[in-house]
Amino acid sequence: MKQVQSTPTGYIGRFAPSPSGPLHAGSLLAAVGSYLDAKAHQGQWLLRIENIDPPREVEGSAGIICKQLEAHGLHWDGPILWQSESTQVFQDVLNALEQKQLAYYCTCTRAEIKARGGHYDGHCRTLNRSAHEASARFLNDTPILSYQDRIKGTIEVPSEFASEDFVLRRRDQLWAYQLAVVCDDYLQGVSHIVRGEDLLFPSVWQLSLWQCLSEQRILPPRVLPQLAHLPLLLDPQGQKLSKQNHAPALDETKVRENLYQALVDLKLAPSAQLLEAEIEDMLAFGVGAWSQRYIISN
Ligand code: GLU
Ligand code: ZN
Repeated sequence: MKQVQSTPTGYIGRFAPSPSGPLHAGSLLAAVGSYLDAKAHQGQWLLRIENIDPPREVEGSAGIICKQLEAHGLHWDGPILWQSESTQVFQDVLNALEQKQLAYYCTCTRAEIKARGGHYDGHCRTLNRSAHEASARFLNDTPILSYQDRIKGTIEVPSEFASEDFVLRRRDQLWAYQLAVVCDDYLQGVSHIVRGEDLLFPSVWQLSLWQCLSEQRILPPRVLPQLAHLPLLLDPQGQKLSKQNHAPALDETKVRENLYQALVDLKLAPSAQLLEAEIEDMLAFGVGAWSQRYIISN
């Protein structure tokens, strides 16, 4: 297993876009929210490009995302982590879990799972399936059912969701987001995660896997990260703004307006004059206002 450095003690945050298209207003919100939280804690803000789903990757978009961040004054610390560089770690972690009988292979199709009620019921747990044409699942025996979100308060997740044996590697052999995000956050020493609300529920899976990796000493022990989930932006039809729903890319001629809108959406109440300010000053305002609203008041 790859050796990692000793546990960092300070704040480490991150923004982790997938290169499936340029940033839109919704992803900018996650970038700005995580950036302000890191700066308000005098912490580091890392950039990780989650490029482990080639079929959904849009060529050139990683470069565009980096340029968009820079244009909005969102400069990250240290080198970019390209998630595709971590696949050996993912494999090592899966092997270790399998060895400890905490992962198993599953050949159930989506239709079969749906016919059995929709939530995966552990059907293949004891069937000793081989890895061939099978997904790998986490044997989620000690699920985490609730956690304290720094913005949303206590999050209680329905037990049938929280205790699902979620997928670690897909049947098409691509690494599942859940495994990849936990391994990378863990190994990058991420202490605080700030991201969109769509991940409010899957967070319990990630915490459960994180806890397992630590308790089983699959990776050097590490405390669970603190979570904060931001509101999602909706399009006029009430759908989540997302690349899948063809949310428009950020207008690069409107950097100030974009940032201003993000500050509004983060409920930081910028004054109208701030729209005329330099982007550095807009961000500095954001750090102060974020700190007041989301850190000091807690
Ligand atoms: N790549 C994921 C996304 O863009 C990252 C989510 C996260 O921050 O954990 O949705
Ligand atoms: Zn199965």
